[in-house]
Amino acid sequence: MRDRFWEHYSLGELNRREWEALCDGCGQCCLKRRVADGEVTVYSVACELLDIDTARCRDYANRLHRVPTCHELTPVSVPRYQDRLPGTCAYVRVHRGQPLPSWHPLLAGDRTRMRRKGITVSHYAIPSGTLSRRQKERHVMSRWSVGKRQQPATAPHSRRSTANSGRER
Ligand code: SF4
Repeated sequence: MRDRFWEHYSLGELNRREWEALCDGCGQCCLKRRVADGEVTVYSVACELLDIDTARCRDYANRLHRVPTCHELTPVSVPRYQDRLPGTCAYVRVHRGQPLPSWHPLLAGDRTRMRRKGITVSHYAIPSGTLSRRQKERHVMSRWSVGKRQQPATAPHSRRSTANSGRER
């Protein structure tokens, strides 16, 4: 990987390794969400493929086939999905020309610091299979109008894909 590539290159100029390394592995994009009437609602409910302990997809290579609501993040799609992703997401930040947070694994060396700060869904995500649709509505984490993000600092939302109902993605 090139030295501090995230500061010198656009998303479209990254090589495969750099692209994958940009994901901090927070898992926030793998929480269920609904996008309707110009509003994004994020639930503390994990996509069925998410390994909550590691905040990683259990079948990353086949996720798009197995979860129809999962959408691939690419240099072209990030601008389209940025309103659905957390403000901490490295793809969104590089797209917007913002710096990576100091806890990002590319700066901190590993995920220890971000996990200590609670920037991971491992601390709160609920398996999707355990809740009915009505019960899910009791687990709203955050809600905002498209274009007017309002999320808690540690809030939870492919890895290079975003999991969720109503998403185009
Ligand atoms: S793609 Fe998902 S897991 Fe990766 S940094 Fe963005 S929100 Fe977090």
